[in-house]
Amino acid sequence: MLIRAAVVRERSAPFVIEALELTDPRPEEVRVRIVATGMCHTDLHGRDGYFPTMPYPAVFGHEGAGVVEAVGSQVRNVALGDHVIISFPWCGSCPNCRRQMPSQCQESAKLKRSGTRPDGSTLLANGGEPIYSAFFQQSSFATHAIANARFVVKIRRDAPLDRLGPFACSIQTGAGAVFNAMQPKPGDSFVVFGVGGVGLSALMAAKLSGCDPIVAIDVHEHRLALSRELGATHTINHSSRSNVVDEVRRITTHGVQFSVETSALPGILQEAVQVLMPLGTCVLLGSARSGTQASFEMPFLQNGRTVRGVIQGWSQPEVLLPRLVDLMMEGKLPVERMMTFYDLADINHAAADAEAGRTIKPVLRMPQ
Ligand SMILES: [Zn+2]
Ligand SMILES: [Zn+2]
Repeated sequence: MLIRAAVVRERSAPFVIEALELTDPRPEEVRVRIVATGMCHTDLHGRDGYFPTMPYPAVFGHEGAGVVEAVGSQVRNVALGDHVIISFPWCGSCPNCRRQMPSQCQESAKLKRSGTRPDGSTLLANGGEPIYSAFFQQSSFATHAIANARFVVKIRRDAPLDRLGPFACSIQTGAGAVFNAMQPKPGDSFVVFGVGGVGLSALMAAKLSGCDPIVAIDVHEHRLALSRELGATHTINHSSRSNVVDEVRRITTHGVQFSVETSALPGILQEAVQVLMPLGTCVLLGSARSGTQASFEMPFLQNGRTVRGVIQGWSQPEVLLPRLVDLMMEGKLPVERMMTFYDLADINHAAADAEAGRTIKPVLRMPQ
């Protein structure tokens, strides 16, 4: 069928809306009519070739939500007309997938960035020219996407579909890291470095878990203001000070039980570790390039401190996503506060706003 999608023709080129041919779903796949999709920095990293990524021309987008429009003959978990979120891909057979940790799938990088299905086939074309897609096995900067049903999660019908896309990555990553990897107790201290979509989702989950104090650190004053409304007890503007670690230690008295790093900057990761109390845990969520190094004093870590990386909130999406959507519907996870909506045609505007820090979570609405 003919669809419309935002195509990046070459590295760092702007998005161009094109009419493309989308192949038919296979027996294990579904076609989703995308209603809205979030934009994540990973999409812009893909556009700019920040990581070794799929060839161009390419369609990015990995926070898609919409309505199931076609179902392969072997699909059992979703049906025509279901409202769904397309979550991250996983292979299902590596050791981590077999131990119910699909977020740490060992085939994950290949599945997210090869630009094709696992067997190498492409899904999109323009007049016979192959267009690489299958970004996170979805490529949802498009009116329609095909995904393996394994990655597709059914969501309650009364939840507003245009708010659901960011649950696929940013919200799942931040909130899942808190609920699954940290599991704080009421009264545990919490600090988040960087309050973009991931950091704010972690902050809201920390608030729901009863953490206190909750410290938010960023360079954008409007993000810090929103952090205070969403539960931060203290905020620090990093751009105006060099003694952030001292300030966090002053606020928390004994140091921090849980810190979260979302910026992927080595100096910030070092600070996120230095604020920890003995037995404290720092969770790294920011995606740095291969070869990036950060150093720590060995005696400091020996004192019971933990530094760990977490991908996609250690989520089992079919369990976590409906739960997070329930929390949104109960008003306990007001994720809509961080969203700014754009039409697909304004995708370059959305990207520029996100890169300048003017918005937190851009969401693209598809033409219906
Ligand atoms: Zn796997
Ligand atoms: Zn993402």
